[in-house]
Amino acid sequence: MLVERSEFDVVIVGLGPVGAVAANIAGLLGLKTLVLERTDHAYLKPRAIVFDAEVMRVFASIDLAERIAKASRALGGSIYLGADRRRFRAILLQ
Ligand SMILES: Cc1cc2nc3c(=O)[nH]c(=O)nc-3n(C[C@H](O)[C@H](O)[C@H](O)COP(=O)(O)OP(=O)(O)OC[C@H]3O[C@@H](n4cnc5c(N)ncnc54)[C@H](O)[C@@H]3O)c2cc1C
Repeated sequence: MLVERSEFDVVIVGLGPVGAVAANIAGLLGLKTLVLERTDHAYLKPRAIVFDAEVMRVFASIDLAERIAKASRALGGSIYLGADRRRFRAILLQ
């Protein structure tokens, strides 16, 4: 596909989480944005188990916080196991 150079303000290569957020921010800023992604499907394995408050603020900035809050829940803590499956650390939140 041949694209005129003046057609877009921003070109983002890759529609992973970073590219998707960048595209949302660029769109909200009124920039004409082209996203190029080499695959035609979502990544099929889970790669986002937890995120912190800073990430939630990024979601809020693109008006997604409410929807993401509905689809997630607060983490109660985490337990880390070694290769021998014995617990070597635990972070338990109240
Ligand atoms: C098992 C696992 C669990 C994880 N759990 C968490 C977690 O709980 N919390 C968390 O915050 N993070 C987690 N991560 C990390 C998180 O998934 C990555 O930090 C995140 O996906 C990075 O996003 P990204 O947009 O930079 O890159 P990617 O997700 O890798 O996206 C890059 C995109 O660019 C496309 N692309 C690449 N090259 C080109 C090209 N030349 N042309 C066009 N398109 C291209 C790719 O197809 C892809 O879609 C986990 C990762 C793994 C592997």
